[in-house]
Amino acid sequence: MPLLRVPRQRSPLNSCDRIETLAMTRPFHVRIEDLKLRDREPRNDVPPVAALTGGGKAFFLETFGCQMNDHDSEKVAGLLLSRGYQQVETPEAASLILYNTCSIREKAAQKVFSRLGEYREKQSAGKVIGVLGCVAQQEGEEIFRRAPWVNLVCGSASYRKLPEMLGQLEAGNQRVTGLETDTDETFETEVTRRDNPWRAYLTIIEGCDKACSYCVVPFTRGPERSRASDSILREVRQLAELGYSEVQLLGQTVNSYADPTPRRMRFSELLLAVADVQGIRRVRFTTSHPSDFRPDIVEAIERQPKICDHVHLPVQSGSTRVLRAMQRTYSREEYLEKIALIRAANRPIAITTDVIVGFPGETEAEFEETLSLLDEVQYDSLFSFKYSPRPNTPSLSMNDSISEEEKSRRLAVLQDRQRGIQSAKNARLVGNRFEVLVSGKSRRDCQWSGYTTSHRMVNFASQGRELLGTYVQVRITGVTPNSLAGEHVT
Ligand code: SAM
Ligand code: SF4
Repeated sequence: MPLLRVPRQRSPLNSCDRIETLAMTRPFHVRIEDLKLRDREPRNDVPPVAALTGGGKAFFLETFGCQMNDHDSEKVAGLLLSRGYQQVETPEAASLILYNTCSIREKAAQKVFSRLGEYREKQSAGKVIGVLGCVAQQEGEEIFRRAPWVNLVCGSASYRKLPEMLGQLEAGNQRVTGLETDTDETFETEVTRRDNPWRAYLTIIEGCDKACSYCVVPFTRGPERSRASDSILREVRQLAELGYSEVQLLGQTVNSYADPTPRRMRFSELLLAVADVQGIRRVRFTTSHPSDFRPDIVEAIERQPKICDHVHLPVQSGSTRVLRAMQRTYSREEYLEKIALIRAANRPIAITTDVIVGFPGETEAEFEETLSLLDEVQYDSLFSFKYSPRPNTPSLSMNDSISEEEKSRRLAVLQDRQRGIQSAKNARLVGNRFEVLVSGKSRRDCQWSGYTTSHRMVNFASQGRELLGTYVQVRITGVTPNSLAGEHVT
């Protein structure tokens, strides 16, 4: 059985200021047979995989940004593999170089252009260069002006057009674009080349209809489109047959899911239905929007242990005045009511969040309100960001008078406060036992890593020979603010 050995190409751009530890990176294997098994009849315009493999076309795909971008890249890679391309580890070895980009903060977008600069000379070597994702959508044809050696510009809302666009490039066309956002379609492919052999991402809702005043996502990913529940469940059943035991449902506001089929499944019902699929052992979901977070989600978690003990519920600020300016559609008090709902569940549920510091007009007292919210909620982990003005967003016209230096200071204070909270919380876990899905193996002998259902990373020792992809019991023996250490117990 042929195995494709494909490393995960991760970008340093993705390093947001999270107080947490990243899993060990490692190569993974993808069977071409696995890539072919999908729920729909192959479309006529996509030639069968076997007829095209080894055709000499090679692509390099680098991904920046969030999990949704990661998963979009998995689908793009599957699409290319099905068209006879092979994935390679370096741009030098590729005939097609693709960047799946992020523009959530200015720095991320800038780095894409500096990376494109590095590829200028590669195009003269006859390579095709493409920009996908949020920077593509945001900058559009301007990319051709700034980097004339780019051949393809395609935003995420137009990925369904990718086969057609690739066809145009293969036919010798020099510049192709896909920049629509007014689509009600979601991006589904016949094949998806998943990075992780045990945990599968599944986008259930694309785009965003919220209008947070600082955020480019509604502009770069288009309006909210939910995927049909029967199609989601069919794919989950196939994933289970392929040996995936954990699925992570994705969406910018995953809990705003609105089933377009006559069944009108609620998000909580979908969670339960996914968990019911034979072979599925863990169901995760991210990101939840506080305004759409309702008691039935907690009830589903309580009822079904396979739904993970973790809710990512971004707050952004602890000040109601700042939340209003951010157009977040909830107050501090309303957010805390959602937290109370989660805390009242009949099993402990880890809560993580996102915070922006230095939003235009944020006073020192308002920043202190965010710190006091951290004390009150006692988050298990936190992503934190300095406010970054973004094109087209309403907050762009607000006076961004807080200096970079002051934003950095607030970020450091916030992270320090959270580090203390996490250290104390983690210390209380010493001696506890957790089930861990093993997803990493260290170069050091007998050292493994994986995640608990509450998404805590655990490094542990075990004499076990092949633990990857299995669920093991680990007793916690030590902690850092970002991870747990333990030993395998049987
Ligand atoms: N949809 C999710 C939500 O509403 O919570 C967030 C998605 S966004 C990709 C991830 C995080 O990036 C946000 O929660 C926010 O903290 C941060 N972010 C978004 N726009 C930002 C900006 N202009 N400056 C700084 N951080 C930003
Ligand atoms: Fe951006 Fe707000 Fe939509 Fe999240 S909910 S993607 S922060 S607009």
